[in-house]
Amino acid sequence: MAFARSFQCTQCGAAVSLDAPGTTHRNHCPRCLWSRHLDRNTPGDRKATCSAGMEPIAVTVRGKGSWVLVHRCLSCGRLRLNRTAGDDNPLLLLRLAALPLTMPPFPVQRLQDDG
Ligand SMILES: [Zn+2]
Ligand SMILES: [Zn+2]
Repeated sequence: MAFARSFQCTQCGAAVSLDAPGTTHRNHCPRCLWSRHLDRNTPGDRKATCSAGMEPIAVTVRGKGSWVLVHRCLSCGRLRLNRTAGDDNPLLLLRLAALPLTMPPFPVQRLQDDG
């Protein structure tokens, strides 16, 4: 089965190998970082009935320098944490990480003046 270890990204159409560097289970596209709502409880169980696209909305850090993607399901709103893989698009990851800094909910200029 040549395709047993890969899937096609529903968001960008990339053919994605399930074998990812730095993680045991690939659950998102390394090119656009989108995922799909397929797992219900544990990564890889494929028990969710939703199967809608999951948008990468943020990056957080777990432990010492492990980046974790926060995915939100477009259909049911479920949030999931997924470790990044070694070949994830670094530019998109940095954009996600920097996004809150580009639109702070308070006036940054005033903070600098007070400091
Ligand atoms: Zn993709
Ligand atoms: Zn869902």
